[in-house]
Amino acid sequence: MKTKYWSVDNDVNSEKNYPQIVEAAQLIKKNEAVAFPTETVYGLGANAASDEAVAKIFAAKGRPADNPLIVHIATFQQLEQIAVDISEPAMKLMHTFWPGPLTLIFYKKPGAVSDLVTAGLDTVAVRMPDHPAALALIRESGHPIAAPSANKSGKPSPTTAKHVLDDLDGAVSGIVDGGPTGVGVESTVVDCTVEPPVILRPGGISKEDIEAIIGHVAEDPAIANAESKPKAPGMKYRHYAPAAPLYLVDGEQQWIQRLIDEQMKAGLKVGMLAPGETASLYKADVVVPCGSKADPKRSAQTLYQALRSFENKGVDIIYSEVFPRAGVGAAIMNRLEKAASHRCIKQPMKDQG
Ligand code: AMP
Ligand code: MG
Repeated sequence: MKTKYWSVDNDVNSEKNYPQIVEAAQLIKKNEAVAFPTETVYGLGANAASDEAVAKIFAAKGRPADNPLIVHIATFQQLEQIAVDISEPAMKLMHTFWPGPLTLIFYKKPGAVSDLVTAGLDTVAVRMPDHPAALALIRESGHPIAAPSANKSGKPSPTTAKHVLDDLDGAVSGIVDGGPTGVGVESTVVDCTVEPPVILRPGGISKEDIEAIIGHVAEDPAIANAESKPKAPGMKYRHYAPAAPLYLVDGEQQWIQRLIDEQMKAGLKVGMLAPGETASLYKADVVVPCGSKADPKRSAQTLYQALRSFENKGVDIIYSEVFPRAGVGAAIMNRLEKAASHRCIKQPMKDQG
């Protein structure tokens, strides 16, 4: 299929932009799948009520059918159409962080969204994205829009329209290009069907931010422990990964350089991912800087671009420094650990300088 392309800026109601949003929304109304920008990453959207439409998302991405989708809404009325039993803490979170990078899990209203969206669960994941083009598209299409990230399943999520086209050109009906996304990692997913609520996936809103509003929240043990079974079905899959094997390396810069040197001596082409503070110190075949230890928000913004930039460079192995875990750093480390299939090489005590 030919993928239609529209380019809009944040002034979505302008004479230039609005007709393009209307065209994209017409495709959603015809049960087609269309990629669009959100503040986290690009989404691949379709009418959440239609089996036919939602099936196109799974087909284009090659996404396993047991991994449910987040439903994107533009108004609180749309939440009432699809979810029931909304708890007091959930109300507080919505009113604080929506629109924004926070997904809440509720019991679903029977029949309101396609069973493909929820992968047969009795719950539904919902968020209101903080992006004018996303909100305008949802409003204009007249439907809540189911949308996972607009990448091939398993690949790093797309933070530019070019990333989407690299993965899905010809496989989706259209793409709305709204420029690079702001947050750069996906939303935080919080299960609000239990008390206290449980973080199932760290993301754009930190645990600290959430606890400041509703007090203690739990965390799915599977986030820290690769052996336990995650409550968010999608968290069990290897994800966010470049083609070459990735290893986290936790130690001093000189020790990491020695690991790189050993691999290069053995004839391997080595990639290195590191924050701006140390990136320029490494000698490897491909060195990619990612934000800065002092500015986790910037590291989050550039993480997926950095992981994608190892593609087509012919590297055999990629090492990545570990990043601080505070705030959005929890999401950065969660994505890196998944991309690395939890492989982490720690500097032995005896080698520490
Ligand atoms: P993505 O759409 O790729 O950002 O992934 C959405 C994440 O939310 C995946 O990890 C899903 O497994 C998770 N998710 C979606 N719906 C539910 C649900 N009803 N219960 C638990 N996790 C969910
Ligand atoms: Mg995804």
